[in-house]
Amino acid sequence: MTTDIHKILKRYWGYDSFRPLQEDIIRSVLDGHDTLGLMPTGGGKSIVFQVAGLAMDTLTLVISPLVSLMKDQVDNLARHGIKAVYLHGGMTPAENRVAWERLVNARAKFLYIAPERLKNERFMTELRALKPGLVVVDEAHCISQWGYDFRPSFMNIRELRKLFPKVSVLALTATATPQVAADIRRQLEFRPGNNTFQMSFARNNLSYVVRESQVKIADVGKILQRTQGCGIVYVRNRRRTREVAEYLESIGVSATFYHAGLDFDTKEERQNAWKQGEIRVMVATNAFGMGIDKPDVRIVVHHDMPPSLEEYYQEAGRAGRDGLPSFAVLLYARHDKATMRRHLTTEFPDRRMILKVYERVANYLGVALGEGYDRIYEFNLDIFLTTFRMQRDMVLASLRLLGRAGYMDYIDERENAARVKVLPTREELYHVGGLSATAESVLSMMLRLYPGLFADYVYINEMRIARDLSIDEREIYMALLELARMKVISFVPRVRTPYIYFATSREETKYVQIGRSIYEDRMRIQEQRVEAMIDYASDTGSCRVARMLKYFGEPKVCECGKCDVCRERNARRHRLSDRQFTARLLEYLDAHPRGVRYEALIADFEPETERVAKLVAAMTSEGLLRIDGAFVERVKK
Ligand code: ADP
Ligand code: MG
Repeated sequence: MTTDIHKILKRYWGYDSFRPLQEDIIRSVLDGHDTLGLMPTGGGKSIVFQVAGLAMDTLTLVISPLVSLMKDQVDNLARHGIKAVYLHGGMTPAENRVAWERLVNARAKFLYIAPERLKNERFMTELRALKPGLVVVDEAHCISQWGYDFRPSFMNIRELRKLFPKVSVLALTATATPQVAADIRRQLEFRPGNNTFQMSFARNNLSYVVRESQVKIADVGKILQRTQGCGIVYVRNRRRTREVAEYLESIGVSATFYHAGLDFDTKEERQNAWKQGEIRVMVATNAFGMGIDKPDVRIVVHHDMPPSLEEYYQEAGRAGRDGLPSFAVLLYARHDKATMRRHLTTEFPDRRMILKVYERVANYLGVALGEGYDRIYEFNLDIFLTTFRMQRDMVLASLRLLGRAGYMDYIDERENAARVKVLPTREELYHVGGLSATAESVLSMMLRLYPGLFADYVYINEMRIARDLSIDEREIYMALLELARMKVISFVPRVRTPYIYFATSREETKYVQIGRSIYEDRMRIQEQRVEAMIDYASDTGSCRVARMLKYFGEPKVCECGKCDVCRERNARRHRLSDRQFTARLLEYLDAHPRGVRYEALIADFEPETERVAKLVAAMTSEGLLRIDGAFVERVKK
């Protein structure tokens, strides 16, 4: 049964029409074709698979790389009255039970998982019973070696094809180099008759500007002082975020900073202040932005270059989602090239070092040989680094490669807020007695702030509750413990430590393999990507947009007319014809040897009035012309 997809769009989201290609993609899926949808960030990919899923009678399985993305989407669907569930390794047994309960008994429509889960046999058996009717791969570029964010665990998705040979796959991504697109279709084993839809990546309201800059921090300041409206400044390291934000504040530009190392509440707080326009500029690492949907960002400045055009396009594209004129400015210093190339070498440490990291991490966590499979261990990187006197960048790079090789994942952005679920029903809650006054007020504040508390675990913001009740956070924490003790809530306190996920059980180090495909091949791909980014920044010969879109596989692209290259070219054309114009003026004056009345001259050159005035003034001060009373004449040598 296929309900009218327009009705679904209207009923759940209140939108009257689909955006270009959304409908084509949905229809292709509903007709049973494997489908690849390439749409820029903000293009509306979520709605595509959500509407398609709702139009089918079955469960839709969504594979997504980040827990924070899953959580966002599930919350969002809940707000629209759609039942959705996610499963991830960081959930408590109680949370897991609630999730399965909603899946099996309450027939949730969407199940979000990370691809690692597909290796779990028990999960696969249970999944078989749920009979999903559609498999969605969000951020599908992660399956491609050529994609900038390759994750080997995405390869597990192929298992689904074996398990459900008749179910179609919908892959969505904002990265669309032709190479990546082809690779996605191949890796996901698209069947004959599959369709690909590509929405143009052109953003007509965005002006791309590259500016050579020697003192970047000062230039960021100048740019923001000369422009208006909300902005983001991207930098490549955490310490810098603070420096730049403080500098901006010192010159009167309202700013704050954001990176993955801040605690959850601080991040929330700052993100909200920026979203609501209380703070104008967010200075951030690339940890900021995923899932942030602020329509009126007027300018995105890159203090440092990202390592690929894909990332640059995504980050710059956070400007002007509302379609109004906006700027994407990249600051570029000559030595950036060398810095980028150096980064590349630190990203690929020596193989021996990688194996050393593997062994030490496993020892440090007390994981014995043959143990660890599909388990999560809290991992404090700083203590690890001091214990073994190892260098941070090297260890992080090794961990990334070990992740790609399918051994262990280091995850430092764990969703670390506290979570709460109310245990009694609303009815029963009336009869609960014996609570302290603080516990009572914390409870009622939570019920007001988080309506979903009866149904499921909800992330709470203790800082916010503390502020609204004007009591300090410690007391809130005590009250939560009291409520948990009284069995009024189930309470999962926030965790601050990042963790390591073992994707396979520990092996003898000598058998650990970092293959060509994730080392040498990958390094070469990374190099090409960096070079493309450098070319974008350093080549002043072609339109920025044309160059970028060509990279994304859009063949016929005309010049944008708005980027710095186009503007400069237009200005040059203008200058050139200024010279020709001057020549014409001189000829005209030579034809009037006794001078000509200024008004007559102006009238003869209609409609270029302003230009004539400007050029006459210029030639006069250069001594080529003389203005005598109302007469203009050529100065004779
Ligand atoms: P993507 O995943 O492609 O980055 P999203 O799915 O998050 O983009 O959508 C971006 C925004 O566009 C969301 O706020 C979404 O509600 C909105 N949107 C999507 N489709 C439509 C539509 N047909 N009409 C109006 N708004 C839409
Ligand atoms: Mg999305």
